[in-house]
Amino acid sequence: MNKRRQTTDLECLTRVGRCPTCAQVVRFTFVGEQHWPPQVAKAAGLGPLVHLWVCSNCQTTLTETAAEQSA
Ligand SMILES: [Zn+2]
Repeated sequence: MNKRRQTTDLECLTRVGRCPTCAQVVRFTFVGEQHWPPQVAKAAGLGPLVHLWVCSNCQTTLTETAAEQSA
């Protein structure tokens, strides 16, 4: 059983979108994954695996959901 996933391609991934915090169109940098227990994820309205992005302008950390909604 191999639990390691191929994440090499994500390490320098960036995405352009509008940041909900500073309201600028910025470049988001992928910074990692966050794992939630299923009941916590459901309560927060998130998936059990969330990708985290950092705004290049205000350094706010966003979940993938927020980044996608703002794109
Ligand atoms: Zn920002």
